[in-house]
Amino acid sequence: MGAEFEKLAREAAEANEAYEQYLLRLTELEVATRATNAIQTRIRAAGFPRAKDFDTFDFTAVPHLSKPKILELARGEWIDQRSNICLIGSPGTGKTHLATALGLAACRQGKRVRFTTASALVTRLEEAQKQYRLERFLAQLDKLDLLICDELGYLSFSRAGGELLFQVFGDRYERRSLLVTSNLAFGEWVQMFQGERMTAALLDRLTHKCHIFEMNGESFRFRESMKNKKSKKSE
Ligand code: ADP
Ligand code: MG
Repeated sequence: MGAEFEKLAREAAEANEAYEQYLLRLTELEVATRATNAIQTRIRAAGFPRAKDFDTFDFTAVPHLSKPKILELARGEWIDQRSNICLIGSPGTGKTHLATALGLAACRQGKRVRFTTASALVTRLEEAQKQYRLERFLAQLDKLDLLICDELGYLSFSRAGGELLFQVFGDRYERRSLLVTSNLAFGEWVQMFQGERMTAALLDRLTHKCHIFEMNGESFRFRESMKNKKSKKSE
């Protein structure tokens, strides 16, 4: 308000506006600025690796993925319903891109979001446990409306690490949302966690209320680089 009141007052005087009208406009501007700042703060706090949004996502590259369904999920009701999303597929098929776009949409809706890779999360959990700060860290995670856990499956965990991740997933069950991406089909998750029973219990909770998308196909990165090579040749 301090930055704008003089300019708006001049405009109001020129337009012969009533004082109430001027005050309303000044307040509206302040409220809008605060809302924009809050969104920026939430996006920064979420820690997305790269800014990737729906506008740069080419849905025609993944024809079996339903664009209307994804855009409906971008409205965020799945988070209010405390359900989950799993994006399963081979590398380069746009899982991180979509996870980020869905996370950004949630930030814009005022939701608290955190993006992390599965291995970074397990490392943080193990560190917190060593420093007797596990409860505190879990409480922080619990405040998030959406936890995005990217790249589950590239690295396997120690038994203790797997148990910590299991605890986080279990705590969120029916209370808070998770978005998980993995290169492994569910049947292969047992490789990641040591113990079939724990894997089964984790999958049971994760997939109970879950929108599952299979993103298999050719790598977008690979396809793009082939396209570039071809166009260079024809030049
Ligand atoms: P994944 O996480 O499945 O390995 P990424 O989301 O990191 O794949 O995608 C790899 C790169 O290709 C990124 O730069 C991403 O923006 C791009 N990409 C993947 N799929 C698409 C798509 N359908 N439309 C536009 N860009 C895409
Ligand atoms: Mg990825």
